[in-house]
Amino acid sequence: MKIQIAALVATLMATSCANKATQPTTAAETDVKIIALHDKQSHAMPNNLFYGQDSTYKSLVDSLNPSGAIPASMGCFYVNLGEPTLFDAGLGAMLGGGIDSALAANNINADSIRTIFITHCHADHIGGLLNADGKAKYANADVWVPKVEYDYWLGKYDQVKQIFDAYKPEKVHYYNYSEQMPLNVVAIPTPGHTPGHTAYRVGKNLIAGDFMHGMLVQKQHPEISCQYDENKQQAAEARKDILKMATDSSLTVYGMHLPDDGILR
Ligand SMILES: [Zn+2]
Repeated sequence: MKIQIAALVATLMATSCANKATQPTTAAETDVKIIALHDKQSHAMPNNLFYGQDSTYKSLVDSLNPSGAIPASMGCFYVNLGEPTLFDAGLGAMLGGGIDSALAANNINADSIRTIFITHCHADHIGGLLNADGKAKYANADVWVPKVEYDYWLGKYDQVKQIFDAYKPEKVHYYNYSEQMPLNVVAIPTPGHTPGHTAYRVGKNLIAGDFMHGMLVQKQHPEISCQYDENKQQAAEARKDILKMATDSSLTVYGMHLPDDGILR
């Protein structure tokens, strides 16, 4: 099966990046060990992604980040929650990601993965569900996908359906938020980046997907959305909610495009 999801990530891939899969880092200070698996560890986000309509934020963004490119990354997270678990699957080998090297560097065998939670259906998050031959990479995993997110992409990008269809139907759970997740994971709707974008709470951690693309700017100014956010106002609200939740409940927040170990600092 030849999957062409390049269109989905064309803009992401167009940004400057060094395609190298280097040693992921861990978060020893949290109650579970969350390991960032990088497709691209040095994946800078250009300032102009954050200028906004009519370049409203141009001078602010440029003053906060004179280098012109905000440090970021691309990847997913591995956690052992009693059973080996992934949060998203990254870009994957088929689309030029370095996830295989990251898995190998951490001695993680794809067949050992039992559960995968999906934050949203952009290619840099679900492309890695497939091997380079287009077959399911994590054949023993149950995959949990927010139904509202999956439904949104149906009819827009056939590739999204093709990716999940590579798994046995009984292994893919298109869930509603009223359903209880396995492994004591809590799904929290955080729409904006995409309509069904979802964060996952794991103990004192919040794995928050693409709530932020440019930490250097957006932590200080959560009102500034990224060009990749489909609904920029909603994304800004979600970002503020996540930051408040983190403060109120003393959570460590992770993001798939935050630099280094993916922790919000
Ligand atoms: Zn992403």
